[in-house]
Amino acid sequence: MFDPIAQTISDQHLNLDYSVQLTVRRLDQIHPNISGNKFFKLKYNFIEAQRLGFKKILTFGGAYSNHIAATAYAAQFFGFESMGIIRGEELANKTYNPTLKLAQQMGMDLKFVSRENYKLKQDPEFNQQLQVEYPDSYIIPEGGTNGLAIQGCQEILNPHDYTQYDVICCAVGTGGTIAGIIESSAPKQHILGFSALKGDFLKQDIQQWTQRTNWSLTDAYCCGGYAKTTPELLCFIENIEQQFQLPLEHIYTGKMFYGVFDLISKHYFAENTRILLIHSGGLQGRLQKISINQK
Ligand SMILES: *Cc1c(COP(=O)(O)O)cnc(C)c1O
Repeated sequence: MFDPIAQTISDQHLNLDYSVQLTVRRLDQIHPNISGNKFFKLKYNFIEAQRLGFKKILTFGGAYSNHIAATAYAAQFFGFESMGIIRGEELANKTYNPTLKLAQQMGMDLKFVSRENYKLKQDPEFNQQLQVEYPDSYIIPEGGTNGLAIQGCQEILNPHDYTQYDVICCAVGTGGTIAGIIESSAPKQHILGFSALKGDFLKQDIQQWTQRTNWSLTDAYCCGGYAKTTPELLCFIENIEQQFQLPLEHIYTGKMFYGVFDLISKHYFAENTRILLIHSGGLQGRLQKISINQK
């Protein structure tokens, strides 16, 4: 895909008074719409779709999905048609939010399905049926996680990083990105994932993609669940943005940073630990409604 752009990825060093060293890999700067980890997840899928002669890309997502936005944009860029199966029948007749508007502008054909039907997307039989129904379509699973996505995410780290960083932190949704990072890490590095949603099932999902054990996952900073927030989280994000000119969003990267800073304050990391934070992008979703989690 556009590797020349990926090569311009910059690292930002955060100067703190603490005894750890923090560096941010700004994957958010790859592209405004095909941003962050989604660039790496789509790269080999698009190459494969092209190789196999598919004309259309078909994928799934929620109404605020960064994956939908990135896929719609990449499909148009590379001359594919695209179709997005979106969770929530009720959205069909509503004004589109900015993510869906962007997808539509990029020519994505949006199909809205009920939450029940949407759940079928993981069922292999349903997917076979879908392939029969749309023979011209290359199907990418929800969130874009498959073997080729993980292959792409192995390019987020480079060999130079093996000796530069002790701990690598990233946000976790489906687990594809962290799986790629784990697979490409050095054995003595530790990969720490911050789950954007509640639950232990993600550990098993990640284990399906990697045999390595130099990683751990916490959902302690998910703020109640996927896309939920707390006033503390929003305040934290604002402070980070002001202090470091570092834009974050509240679904993934904000929670990861929130967790890292909390762990630092609790002296979780040994002194002089060199930490690399993967800024996985997602800023297209930042303009949108924020729902405060009221307990
Ligand atoms: C999709 C997304 C993630 C989660 O990636 P997974 O591979 O699904 O774990 C993390 N951060 C951002 C900004 C995302 O858009």
